[in-house]
Amino acid sequence: MAELLRVENLVKTYAAPGGFFGRRRATALGGVSIAVARGETLGLVGESGSGKSTLGRCILGLTRPDSGAILFEGADVQGLSGRRLADFRRRVQPVFQDPFGSLDPRWPVGRSVREALDCFGIGSNSDRARRVADLFARVGLDPVFAKRLPSQLSGGQRQRVAIAAALASEPELIVADEPVSALDMSVQAQILNLFMDLKRDLGLAALFITHDLAVVAHVSDAVAVMQQGRIVETGSADAVIDAPSHAYTKALIAAVPRPRPAFRGG
Ligand code: ADP
Ligand code: MG
Repeated sequence: MAELLRVENLVKTYAAPGGFFGRRRATALGGVSIAVARGETLGLVGESGSGKSTLGRCILGLTRPDSGAILFEGADVQGLSGRRLADFRRRVQPVFQDPFGSLDPRWPVGRSVREALDCFGIGSNSDRARRVADLFARVGLDPVFAKRLPSQLSGGQRQRVAIAAALASEPELIVADEPVSALDMSVQAQILNLFMDLKRDLGLAALFITHDLAVVAHVSDAVAVMQQGRIVETGSADAVIDAPSHAYTKALIAAVPRPRPAFRGG
């Protein structure tokens, strides 16, 4: 599979609270390397505070790493500006745990999706209303929901809208940071199935970040296990989950509660 994203030896430190004149630094990323192939879902799993969100934010350009490279189709994204930066932003889209953050609370949600199309100049002006309806259908929402405010939707419906907005720019990679962690178990399964549909139907690649190994097991082709700012284990999802080699991965697997909800197999 052709490589889409490669992160090489990424380092990010923060000034540690209580540090002496800011000289003490806490390491959020201690030299992280990952790769995501076109159309592949890489599950990034680790306990809270292990650095997962920091990695996602660096890839999205929301946090600047201290050192290391982030290559998208071989080009370091940290050097991009102007049109090439805009193109990268179009091709790599985030989905976060809390869709309220990406949806304006005063706008009917259809307007938020429309705004994403306008922002990236996708489709002709007359074409965009149809595209909004198509995006709602794509994420399994009746277009009548477009007229509702975010507060008038359920958590799962809101996350579907946020995914529709992320899809508006026709991205190739989604960086999803705990996208189902705020949802009830049964709704989690529906949203995970939606991610798998998008991968199958659109060939969308994803970096799927979660603290929940059971979630990772169901959506990922490959898994990277993160502990204290480092990748401690990586491999195919089957290999990592069926035959973990690192003690930390074994502990994560042992901690998964059973029984799990009925995810669609595959
Ligand atoms: P995760 O997403 O795996 O829970 P994070 O990437 O959010 O982990 O955090 C990794 C470490 O970096 C934690 O120790 C966290 O406290 C620290 N950290 C994250 N963001 C900041 C920040 N803006 N300022 C200071 N420390 C931060
Ligand atoms: Mg996080």
